[in-house]
Amino acid sequence: DANLISGARAVLTRLHDAGFQAYLVGGCVRDALLSKPIHDVDIATSALPAEVTSIFERTIPTGMQHGTVTVMVDQYPFEVTTFRQESGYEHFRRPKEVSFIHDLEGDLLRRDFTFNAMAMDIDGHLIDPYDGQNDLDKGIVRCVGDADARFQEDALRMIRCVRFAACYDFQVDPSTWAALRIHRTKLQYIAMERVRAEMDKMIDLSLYSAIRGMSLMQESRLLEFTKVMIHDQWNLEDHTLYQVVEQEQDRLEHWDKHADVAVRWGLLFYRSHTNPEQAQSIMQKLTFPNRKNTEIVELLQLHAYLHSIVIGNKEEDVKPSWVRGVLTFGKDAALRWLHMMEGDELFQSPHQQQASPIFTQLRKHGERWLSELHVLKISDLDIKGHDILKHQKKKAGPWLGELLQHLLYQVAMGQVDNDRHELLEEASQVINNE
Ligand code: ATP
Ligand code: MG
Repeated sequence: DANLISGARAVLTRLHDAGFQAYLVGGCVRDALLSKPIHDVDIATSALPAEVTSIFERTIPTGMQHGTVTVMVDQYPFEVTTFRQESGYEHFRRPKEVSFIHDLEGDLLRRDFTFNAMAMDIDGHLIDPYDGQNDLDKGIVRCVGDADARFQEDALRMIRCVRFAACYDFQVDPSTWAALRIHRTKLQYIAMERVRAEMDKMIDLSLYSAIRGMSLMQESRLLEFTKVMIHDQWNLEDHTLYQVVEQEQDRLEHWDKHADVAVRWGLLFYRSHTNPEQAQSIMQKLTFPNRKNTEIVELLQLHAYLHSIVIGNKEEDVKPSWVRGVLTFGKDAALRWLHMMEGDELFQSPHQQQASPIFTQLRKHGERWLSELHVLKISDLDIKGHDILKHQKKKAGPWLGELLQHLLYQVAMGQVDNDRHELLEEASQVINNE
């Protein structure tokens, strides 16, 4: 984004003019070298937080005690952080103390991985004391300094290590990986929100990186050592999941182009034989926002429902089951289900049995049947509960909800028009037949 770059230049220039050193650092330098889009820009400077605040008009005191001030230029935020050193790491988490220092090199030394410990000056010159560019070229995640000490200081770095390996399809340097395996149990000291934030980054990106990340978490057993016992319910040991990554990269990429995150999580849960209740509990432990949790659970519930139809093989005609499923779990769940099944195909080995004819039919017609639905919920009906009460002169009760549900289904199936009079008539018939 050209505005982001020019904003960053403006911030650097202002700091230079005031007599301070200032550099681009961290993720933005790394992503620029990888020719990946840059989403946020971090700046390291010799100016103290109070000095930064006084130099710029619009600032937000994001974390003054850690040295971070957010500087606004137009609509863009820039995180400006004073060169600092960290010490007194406690409980394998963030440092207790930070002290401000005068040189960039000391600041780069505290950073986690070699490719995150590079800086760029305003002329585009790279400052790369730990050979991060070389590791980027070779595709290697490597701790700055002694991996053993770095993971011991801050256990979150282990899950960041997996995240970067997954998102960039990198290998983990052997000594970094060995240290990770030694210190993996310390992940239990890290808040689940922070673990989730890193997992989100790999799962949001693509199914490929999601599966790659999950496989590294499984291989390292990091998943077992989170603060809460996720592993009890979530068994990721199905190796078809990981084989696909090796063999089907192109098709995974194609599938990803129009996938949303909920579909991706849904597929991961379903493919690891996790039922909706287990998935819900895992997502709670992972501190998912409720809304996202619900979306994924509804998708898995719809799948379980459709699967029960397949098992029971109750209906020749699939449309009624589909419509019931859509009315119960929602249109979004249905669209996601269609997408999930498309992805699921990638995991079917040739010797596995063919998809059930019911699923085949749904995949063929499901989308059209969805678009033909004129009603999705009771409030879409051209009638309200109190209309029926008035008409029938009956007292409200559970029968009313059931009746409205019946009407909704009838209209959805095209058996009754969504018209007040017709609906009242159908309601009378149902009541009289009882
Ligand atoms: P993203 O693309 O996800 O923003 P990022 O590398 O910018 O990746 P941030 O969490 O934004 O990740 O951190 C910015 C920089 O701060 C990192 O590049 C790294 O230099 C440093 N950093 C972040 N977390 C740690 C940590 N736990 N230990 C050491 N350094 C860290
Ligand atoms: Mg960042």
